[in-house]
Amino acid sequence: MGWQIAIDGPAGSGKSTVAKAIAKRLNFKYLDTGAMYRAVALKGIKLKIDFSDEKSYRFLENTKINFECGKIMLDGIDVSEEIRSVDVSNYASLVATFGYVREKLVALQQAIASNDNVVMDGRDIGTVVLKNANLKIFLTANVSERAKRRLKERVEKGQDCQSLEETIKELNDRDYQDSHRKVGPLTKADDAIEIDSSDLCIEEVIKKIISLVLERGYRMENLEQKNEILEEEVKEAEAPVEETSTSETAEENAPKYRELQVVTGTVVEVIPAQPARKVGNKEFKAREEKVLIELEDGQEGYLSKKDTVGLADDEELFDAFLEGDKVEVAIKKIFPDGGKFVFSTALVAKRKELEKFEEIVKERPIIKVKVVKNAPIGLLTRYEDFSCLIPKKPKSLLNIPEEELDALAGKEIEVVPVRVDYSRIRIIASQAAAENQKAKSAKKAFVDQLEVGQVYDGVVKNIEKYGAFVEIGNGVEGLLHISELAHDRVFKVEKVLNAGDSVKVQIIKLEKDHIGLSRKSLMPNHWADYTEGKEVGSLVSGKVVDIRDAGITVELAEEINGFLPKSEFSWNNDAVIADEVKVGDELEAKIIEIDNSKKRIILSKKQLTENPWLALTCKVGDIIDVVVAKELEQGFKVTYQGVSGYLSKGSIRNHENEVQIGAELKVKVRTLDTQKGRLVVNLNDAEEKIEKENYSKYMKAQDKISNTLGDYFASLKNRK
Ligand code: C5P
Repeated sequence: MGWQIAIDGPAGSGKSTVAKAIAKRLNFKYLDTGAMYRAVALKGIKLKIDFSDEKSYRFLENTKINFECGKIMLDGIDVSEEIRSVDVSNYASLVATFGYVREKLVALQQAIASNDNVVMDGRDIGTVVLKNANLKIFLTANVSERAKRRLKERVEKGQDCQSLEETIKELNDRDYQDSHRKVGPLTKADDAIEIDSSDLCIEEVIKKIISLVLERGYRMENLEQKNEILEEEVKEAEAPVEETSTSETAEENAPKYRELQVVTGTVVEVIPAQPARKVGNKEFKAREEKVLIELEDGQEGYLSKKDTVGLADDEELFDAFLEGDKVEVAIKKIFPDGGKFVFSTALVAKRKELEKFEEIVKERPIIKVKVVKNAPIGLLTRYEDFSCLIPKKPKSLLNIPEEELDALAGKEIEVVPVRVDYSRIRIIASQAAAENQKAKSAKKAFVDQLEVGQVYDGVVKNIEKYGAFVEIGNGVEGLLHISELAHDRVFKVEKVLNAGDSVKVQIIKLEKDHIGLSRKSLMPNHWADYTEGKEVGSLVSGKVVDIRDAGITVELAEEINGFLPKSEFSWNNDAVIADEVKVGDELEAKIIEIDNSKKRIILSKKQLTENPWLALTCKVGDIIDVVVAKELEQGFKVTYQGVSGYLSKGSIRNHENEVQIGAELKVKVRTLDTQKGRLVVNLNDAEEKIEKENYSKYMKAQDKISNTLGDYFASLKNRK
């Protein structure tokens, strides 16, 4: 059986991206088991099966699902793209609830994994498919992060997208279905390592898993070490970190030993101290008491009192060591030109003390260390009595630019201990991890104090069809939905905002993982302000800003225009707007329509007054007094009781001189249509009618009745 890595987790946690990358770097086979459930769902859709009936899945008996060059093949056809649709995603979860389907696919997955090194991702890999996997990972992330990733992925692939809220719901539904089904539910295997990728980038997750693979003993010799990251990981995990000290040269000469190595030796003798003395001309320096210890291969070294642990003040070395004793010592110093080593039991004790950090490392606390110096290997620091190294490789451990490192000597910095290096009797720590943790807690503290109504100066991080994600502080992002961008309808987010833009936003919604933002709530709402308290019938005034054939545009307030259609200008159809108003004039009008959804106001000027046509007192045939208002091509415009009428030139025979602008005339009503606003009058007819009326009056007035018109006209002459 090969080496097996099982990666389980909910939808959108990044399993497949991570699994694929790890397989590539380790040269393992990759198996996307989700794709297999999706393929079953796709075939079910095509066959129009009843998805709720387990028997419908019998088609699997004659179905071939396999992988070729990373593509999933369904009955010999590459369906890698097709299986990623929202529809297939939803059915896949349902399909996966049936024991029959799971049994078939699990058997297939186990068969594929049987002989190779494999990375497999899914929901039940660590618990069912590869129960004995060498490494089991349970990859999670919070649901809004997963939804964002899923949306981004779909947008990038040009697939149909739902809103973030809908995607969150989709994932929650799938999570629920996946973790509550009877067979092979999504659960973390007891021996799985959980990685929360909410705040990690893909590369960080990959590195973490690769170092776990190495820690679990997977050896890389059989690999082409294709990339730098992998090389770094290998070095970090497999080799003790090299330090530039005198030991480098010593190791070349005596590769069998290195400084700080713990070895067991035998006490040869305890050499007593000697005071300084002079023998003849020769001066001998004072010599301290020391223990000569011999290692198995004959290499010797001294242990002096200051390097010995556990001696009371009044005790000497000869009280504690006897010839022939076996002692565990650490090699404190190896001299480049050979000679005896310097041994230490104090260092051995310290090495033991290091064990306490095993527990500390698990908790990953932030500790303060004092920088000793910037060495090529990393930043050498001290924590309590221990030396602590922040290696420069992998890069993920030290996040301070090289040029700033020298200046740190003597200063305190914060780090997170990541492992204990017994071979060098020190702690390995990560400064970047401390930075990350602090950022995380700052983020949490920031999120905890958020309240609906707060206003932030945010920065647009990315744009989606349905809105923009805006960072409001400490890496916390909220969604500024397209409907919250402006009071007017916005059709394309990019028309208003782009990535990198600064934007003032207000929090309008706070739900578990969702922060809803609004930009428009902070902007003056001209429409609402203007229309408040106004209704159809309200009298308003504004400045004429445009006059066209169709009507007049009136600026009623900032950003608010009303439209006055030509038909609403005057009760008289023949009124010419340009004769009465010009651009810039102040105009009074009445609102006759307010449409909030279209933000439209329609005005009327004529409705400021009663309809004069309805008040007219004349009828067809009546003689009325009109005033000549204007000469037209074929006639005259006349006015009567506030309406205008038409007097044709053909009807003023013999009276041309009398028909002057401003003249009062007696005319006869020929046509009157009060609905259409039409009045036509005639002067000649009037004259005739008046004459007739006068004649009959005259006749009535005569004592002697004359029956000829000649008599009548003669009488007229006589009267003059
Ligand atoms: O991982 P992916 O989203 O492609 O998986 C599609 C569906 O297949 C999941 O929602 C899950 O219900 C199902 N699945 C499963 N067991 C697996 C892999 C996927 O039940 N090992």
